[in-house]
Amino acid sequence: MTTPNAHGKVLIFSSPSGAGKTTIVHHLLKTFPSLAFSVSATTRPRRPHEVDGKDYYFLTPEEFRKKIEEGAFVEWEEVYKDTYYGTLRSEVDRLLGQGKHVVFDVDVKGALNIKKQFGDRALSIFVMPPSIEELEKRLRHRSTDPEESIRERVAKARIEMGYADKFDVILVNDQLDKALKEAEEIVRKFIGER
Ligand code: ADP
Ligand code: 5GP
Repeated sequence: MTTPNAHGKVLIFSSPSGAGKTTIVHHLLKTFPSLAFSVSATTRPRRPHEVDGKDYYFLTPEEFRKKIEEGAFVEWEEVYKDTYYGTLRSEVDRLLGQGKHVVFDVDVKGALNIKKQFGDRALSIFVMPPSIEELEKRLRHRSTDPEESIRERVAKARIEMGYADKFDVILVNDQLDKALKEAEEIVRKFIGER
């Protein structure tokens, strides 16, 4: 990292799509003003409610490729077929430079990659759905993805669940209010705030 003097910590959230990680991360960002979200870059199409620069930096495949060549990413992955996601070095440095603790929402491989780079300064949290069936239900209920994309996400979820025990913490998201409280406790303990 290029911001060696910053003391901020790193919270890495990962889960199969639909497990509830975005919901949990939004809650934590509202609860703890010292946290800031690392906005990733992606080539996936923007969902109607999403804002460029807030949810993601939406890039064309050409723009994304150029950033890879420039070494602009801390990590990047082809998470779904022909769909790329990456953590921008500039984003992480900017937030650590502001004295923030940085929150990541990345896929399982990206999460383990970031954890390796930050070591004890980072906490990796796997958000576990109660079951694959419930995950599929949540994805359908969310109504943001086409049928083919839902099927791809559910198929991938089975593989991603196999990575759970490589994380520092597993947070089961069954009842939402309970999961939010547990998430608050985990973060409070790690960043040392009351
Ligand atoms: P992810 O970021 O992991 O893809 P989201 O946070 O978008 O997941 O959640 C997927 C859907 O499930 C959303 O519609 C969200 O409101 C809903 N959801 C999240 N947590 C729960 C829960 N504990 N019980 C029921 N629905 C949930
Ligand atoms: P979605 O398309 O549902 O927003 O995200 C799909 C997946 O991509 C999620 O698992 C999400 O965590 C992951 N993702 C988002 N940003 C990044 C990133 O910068 N790097 C990696 N490796 N994965 C990411």
